[in-house]
Amino acid sequence: MAAAERAIVIGGGIGGLTAAAALRLRGARVTVLERAPSLEPVGAAISLSPNALRALDVIGLGDDIRALSAWQGDGGLRTPSGRWLARAEAAAAAERFGGPLVLLHRATLVDRLAGLLPSGAVRTGTPARLTDPGVPGDRRRPARVETPDGELEADLVVAADGIRSAVRGALFPGHPGTVHSGFTTWRVVIPLPGVAFCSHETWGRGRIWGTHPLKDGRVYAYAAAVAPAGERAPDDERAELLRRYGDWHSPVPEVLAAVRPEDVLRHDVHHIAEPLPAFHRGRVALVGDAAHAMPPTLGQGGNQAVEDAITLAFPRPGMPPSAVEPVADGLPGYTAVRLPRTMAVSRRAVRVARLNLMTGRVGPAVRDTALAALSKAAPSLFLRGFDGVADWRPPGGPSGADGDGSGAPRMLAADHGRRGPEENTP
Ligand SMILES: Cc1cc2nc3c(=O)[nH]c(=O)nc-3n(C[C@H](O)[C@H](O)[C@H](O)COP(=O)(O)OP(=O)(O)OC[C@H]3O[C@@H](n4cnc5c(N)ncnc54)[C@H](O)[C@@H]3O)c2cc1C
Repeated sequence: MAAAERAIVIGGGIGGLTAAAALRLRGARVTVLERAPSLEPVGAAISLSPNALRALDVIGLGDDIRALSAWQGDGGLRTPSGRWLARAEAAAAAERFGGPLVLLHRATLVDRLAGLLPSGAVRTGTPARLTDPGVPGDRRRPARVETPDGELEADLVVAADGIRSAVRGALFPGHPGTVHSGFTTWRVVIPLPGVAFCSHETWGRGRIWGTHPLKDGRVYAYAAAVAPAGERAPDDERAELLRRYGDWHSPVPEVLAAVRPEDVLRHDVHHIAEPLPAFHRGRVALVGDAAHAMPPTLGQGGNQAVEDAITLAFPRPGMPPSAVEPVADGLPGYTAVRLPRTMAVSRRAVRVARLNLMTGRVGPAVRDTALAALSKAAPSLFLRGFDGVADWRPPGGPSGADGDGSGAPRMLAADHGRRGPEENTP
């Protein structure tokens, strides 16, 4: 990338901030435009699997995040009565995929990513609108982005504006957008002192619940249930959780006893079912949910956003930060690599949702019997669901950061803080 390449990132979520940090490492002058008044993320915790952690190695953040891993010992899949259907050990998972699975608060991740950017690089309270995608290779046709403070020009625009991406709609007006995935979710992060439990996900009939420890001592619990879009509890969402899960195995009742109604986040789930024609147009690249919103049943939406961002900035092995080719010239290659990968992961997440949110009496009973028998015959069954997902490695990166989880590019991460904020004016 030429030193003067100007990049604008629309959206300061996980995808946008990772892209900003990676592009900055490539030498770009990056500005992140975020419409929210602060970077405080909506949401509870997020799980990062070894694929995203290897991608974060490229920007020097992988080991910092790995250090936050709290899942140790045993865990697995249960029925609402508490019977184990399949067991998984943290050590076996780490061995199979080359590193731990890390569950951390979203605020922690956003904070670490933003910490890689110089002050002034992120402009909050700044809604942005793409007015022209520009033409790569034509210096007279930069991309143009409108903000309340005026229009900005850029050599590259990264649209990381989330599931309701206006940029996606502008680039591909014929695309139908997202569909309702058929279920709703609840999430809480709370202290749960004095309650011992194993990490678990529990599958009932059209309902699931998971409880997992965080490194900071708190507990992340989530639930999902088949429900029409827009449905909300007549009283409050804690009462709704009690009605649906109050008689499930420990630690579910203990979590519910500790939760206050205002702790509970509820979101309906939507995903992109019909793939976009491309993840780019002109000088604009779509990243994260804007490109491939998927159900959270594999915990991969954010992980794939991180993979996108790193692949966009470092598409080939051993790429030095001083690489001269403009990022915008490589966008067809970005689509060619990321579109099939993310849609395959998304389709898998949809299939998992059909299995773990199966309704009726017979289907779930057959599912549970088959899972228990299969996992007895092949104890690694639970982990196999992540084969081809968690074992992904980034295509390239500086200093031989080829995704071996070694934390090799730390030296480059240190370089992040050296450039002045003045460079971030596009
Ligand atoms: C219940 C649930 C659980 C999940 N669990 C996991 C998990 O464990 N692991 C995982 O990997 N994924 C998980 N996901 C998915 C994950 O949350 C998303 O895939 C991820 O947050 C997408 O990141 P993003 O940066 O693409 O979009 P977002 O995080 O949505 O960020 C988009 C940003 O763009 C901003 N924006 C939008 N429009 C504009 C505009 N016009 N101008 C300026 N800014 C704008 C928004 O304010 C927002 O900050 C889960 C999702 C749900 C619903």
